[in-house]
This record gives sequence, C-alpha cells and structure tokens, in this order.
Amino acid sequence: MNNRITFTKILKHFHTVNKHRFKVFLLCCRVGIPIQGLFHDLSKYSKEEFWESVKYYQGDVSPIRNCKIQEGYSKAWLHHKGRNKHHYEYWYDYNLKEPTPMIPFRYVLEMICDSFAAGMTYQGKKWTQEYQLSYWNRVKDEARMKPEIKKLLTTVYETVAKKGLKAGLNRKYIKNLYDNM
Ligand SMILES: [Zn+2]
Repeated sequence: MNNRITFTKILKHFHTVNKHRFKVFLLCCRVGIPIQGLFHDLSKYSKEEFWESVKYYQGDVSPIRNCKIQEGYSKAWLHHKGRNKHHYEYWYDYNLKEPTPMIPFRYVLEMICDSFAAGMTYQGKKWTQEYQLSYWNRVKDEARMKPEIKKLLTTVYETVAKKGLKAGLNRKYIKNLYDNM
C-alpha cells in the first residue's frame, strides 16, 4: 500500500471533500437546514484530519477506513467524531446508563443527508436509489445507535429505494417518523 503524501493526492482529497460537502449542502437545503449544510464536515480541513486522509487516500473508499484497516485506528476519525454531531458516534458514551442516547432531530437530518451524499460521492455514476439501503443493511448491526433511530433510518432508506429521494429525503416525512418514535 502506498501511503506517501503526493501533490496529486492532496488535490484529489481536497476535491473529494469539497465535492462531498457541496452534495451535503444541496441535500441539507432540501430538508431545510442550509446553514448546517454549509458548516458540514469543516473539521476535515483541520491538520489532524486533512493530512492523515491525504496519506491514506485511495479514491474509491474512505481514507479513514483505509487508515483503520492498516493502522488499527484513525486519529483523524477520533478528531472528526468528537466534533461533528451528525455522527451517532459523537453521542455514544459507554459510561451512560443508556449509551446510545436520543439524537436531536436536526442532526438526524444531517446524518441522513451525509449518508446519501457519501454514497453518491464514492459510487459516482454507479449510484442508484437502492444503494443506501443495501449499504445500510450491511453495516446497521454494528452501529451503536439508539434502536429507534436505526428503525427510522431503515424506513427512510427503504422509502428512497422504493420511491426515490423526493419521497424519502423529505423533512415532513422524517419529522413525522421522528416524533412517532
Ligand atoms: Zn462528518
């Protein structure tokens, strides 16, 4: 595995981050959280996250994942999840009586936008509306997330798989699911 920092990798990683953030912003606008969308993932430009991700840049998978596979842990990820409330890992606390607490609605929305945008960014032209559900089904058992929120995400991804983004990535629809948890 080539973990050298090169100029090409710097440009490519920078481009991936910008592309992803722009997609998240557009999706966040759809669900009424444009400002949150604008500030999404800004910590990826910090030195702690940026340089590790350049080093482990691979193109088709997340550099954080790549680093975790090679090193056993990722400092960039620890930095990232400690600052970004749209990650359920931010809320997880094994010391709590309930280690997976409720996540405020606006961060659940941002989490959903993030997941779709990430799928679109890494899949490119291969992305289909069924993609997120199949990805989620592969990872959901491992996610240390409040079961009710897991169920909400499953419902949203199922709706998008069946009826498209417009039907599933819809603020009213998601709010209704959230309020009825
Ligand atoms: Zn993030």
